Amino acid sequence: MTRTFTPDRVAKFEKLLLAERSEAESRLAEHRQGMAEVRVARSDASADDEHDPEGPTMTQEWSQRTAVLADAEAEVADVDRALARLADGTYGVCERCGKPITVARLEARPTATLCIDCARLER
Ligand SMILES: [Zn+2]
Repeated sequence: MTRTFTPDRVAKFEKLLLAERSEAESRLAEHRQGMAEVRVARSDASADDEHDPEGPTMTQEWSQRTAVLADAEAEVADVDRALARLADGTYGVCERCGKPITVARLEARPTATLCIDCARLER
């Protein structure tokens, strides 16, 4: 395996990844807070769920929030995996074909695990 990453470049991507992680985490915190509020509102209305005109709206909001939360959680997990790859020297190597992922692609998507050719095949 060829290591295309100089310590400078590792440091640079580490910084990018950590920035992305803290951004995703603050989104996570925000949505957890929001969901706690919806949960309170919901338990107030739960006495007569079916006849509550707010019921469906609440459910829709809930599933939307759940989806956003899952997205942010997945993003944090992606960043953690990328940081682990950065630490063990496999960062920037395509998981499918083993070729290096271009720096331009990594700059745009620091958590990318596939080179552009393999990413196209995935779709
Ligand atoms: Zn590939």
